[in-house]
Amino acid sequence: MPEGSHRFQVGSTSCTVLSDGYYSYPASWFFPNANPDDLNRELESHHLPQDTVLSPYTCLLIETGRHVAIVDTGAGEYSSSAGAIQARLEMAGIRPKDVDTVILTHAHPDHIGGAIDLYGRPAFPNACYVLSELEWEFWTGAHPDLRHLRVPDSARESLHSMARRCLGTLRHQIEPIDRETEIIPGVVAIPAPGHTPGHLAVLIADGGQQLLNLGDAAVHPLHLEKPCWQNGFDLAADCALATRRQLMDRAIADDMHVMAFHFPFPSIGRIAVNNGGWRWTPGW
Ligand SMILES: [Zn+2]
Repeated sequence: MPEGSHRFQVGSTSCTVLSDGYYSYPASWFFPNANPDDLNRELESHHLPQDTVLSPYTCLLIETGRHVAIVDTGAGEYSSSAGAIQARLEMAGIRPKDVDTVILTHAHPDHIGGAIDLYGRPAFPNACYVLSELEWEFWTGAHPDLRHLRVPDSARESLHSMARRCLGTLRHQIEPIDRETEIIPGVVAIPAPGHTPGHLAVLIADGGQQLLNLGDAAVHPLHLEKPCWQNGFDLAADCALATRRQLMDRAIADDMHVMAFHFPFPSIGRIAVNNGGWRWTPGW
């Protein structure tokens, strides 16, 4: 597999994580309510830089034999690595027209940007784009309320303008869902609100194995270790934490493998209860 791709099996379903690169954010955007000294100490103890968070973007290709699906599309033309996802798909033998299903966990630019191409057309011409109905209504409504985000106004504005632009382009191919829904056999979208109103997690199950893609229900392993540390991009912090708990409980109870879009590439690992929070162990 090419660099930035990692293929593995969930039962007989082939999954491939695809890297859309890494992006640097001020640490205060990721951890707005953490005490800065505590945060720096934790980052240092994980051998991570202080003050900034280098955040990976990782999409998931799912090949069932009958269906070719992708979960999230990366930042597309807004990315410094524009075209990375398309290139990695091509190197995995997948052309844009082969993709029949695109599941968008939510409509933030790092997840939806690659859903449209450089010419402003749907990047996967034959795909249906699955999105929560709540997510569609929120971003296409007259005035989506982003006041509770703890990021600068410029970041709020770019979230809004990108969502509107991408969703407008995709409108004829969007399939909104309003509950937990099996999208293709073995792939279930699960409402996981808080990060955004219609945020979805995605569960892949085959042959007794399960992979739970958290989307942005957690954006950094420290949000699992320190459940009280909020994410500035979560629209509703309390709801996001309740969702995180539900997903962690489900993953642990059913011994699931876990994936998270912004966790260190290849972004797959296991969860265990630890010290009032959860420990993330990378690997399959
Ligand atoms: Zn994200």
